[in-house]
Amino acid sequence: MKDEFSFIASITPKKTVQRSLLKGIGDDAAVYRSLAGMDEVVCVDTVVENIHFRRSTSSPYFIGRKALASNLSDLAAMGAQPSFYLVSIVVPATWTEDEIKAIFAGMASLASEYDVDLIGGDTVSTSADALVLTVTVIGRVEQMRALYRGNAKPGDVIFLTGAVGASAAGLKLLQEKGQNGAFSKEELDLVRAHQDPQPHVQQGRLLAKSGFRIATNDISDGVASEAHEIAEASRVLLILEEEALPLHDGMASFSKEERLHMALYGGEDYVIMGTVAINDVESLKNTFAENELPFFTIGRVEAGEPGVLLKRGDRMQKIKKEGYNHFRSR
Ligand code: ADP
Ligand code: MG
Repeated sequence: MKDEFSFIASITPKKTVQRSLLKGIGDDAAVYRSLAGMDEVVCVDTVVENIHFRRSTSSPYFIGRKALASNLSDLAAMGAQPSFYLVSIVVPATWTEDEIKAIFAGMASLASEYDVDLIGGDTVSTSADALVLTVTVIGRVEQMRALYRGNAKPGDVIFLTGAVGASAAGLKLLQEKGQNGAFSKEELDLVRAHQDPQPHVQQGRLLAKSGFRIATNDISDGVASEAHEIAEASRVLLILEEEALPLHDGMASFSKEERLHMALYGGEDYVIMGTVAINDVESLKNTFAENELPFFTIGRVEAGEPGVLLKRGDRMQKIKKEGYNHFRSR
């Protein structure tokens, strides 16, 4: 990168949309006004080249979109409306300035879809080989309405706001055929699901506004791992039904076992998994239907030792807390 100042100028948004923003990029720090009746929600995520993404399976533009999407998905799982994001980027000499700009263009495109403003960040170069991208997002949720993992209770129904497994299937196709491989229409859907996931922000907002007691988690590491996190935080047993797991239509060419494995352990689908009292399920289903959004019930919560079981026909199988865990997979 030749000139950090001209680079920052080039990625500074020409206009911002959040009215509570008082000072965005261009000073020592950003300033925004808090809103009456709202709680602030914040999280940060880092992706590292060759661990979380590869240039062989995605383009800089989609690497940027996905880095922001995974953060917006975390806010969605809290029931929050996203408002701002900040980006810290550590750039190796092997990346051109145009490629870095494409990462920011990708983030900006997703940001405009969700009305979030880029309000700051940091830009540094490194002699290391891997690009490191850290995105911080800030959102808001009505006071007392944030959705927590520890909210599940015995008797609850478990639900998903979208199909699972598509991202893992898409990654497998990309690894086999490369980015410019010949993909059928169904395969291309899976590839897109991997490269360009859609965070379920609207779905999270509907859940928070329902006012029901709901436990949530977004599917970043896979259904198995996320279900375990709800089970542990809530001290309950989750029972998932194999037949009820919603799989992407495009996965028909994979074997039944492969599809199940991708759904449970694949991750990066960025849909929301949740639990809600059985008496509130119909109402929630209707709300989603009115908004033309899918809503799948996939199991139930019982009292017991915290854990996750999969019901396959009339057999019960213990599901391990496996998934895309970076400390274990290397
Ligand atoms: P300082 O030295 O005061 O930290 P910088 O030169 O690092 O200032 O940054 C100047 C402005 O540009 C700040 O508002 C900062 O938040 C913003 N900025 C720097 N890098 C990025 C980036 N990668 N993405 C977004 N904003 C950035
Ligand atoms: Mg700085």
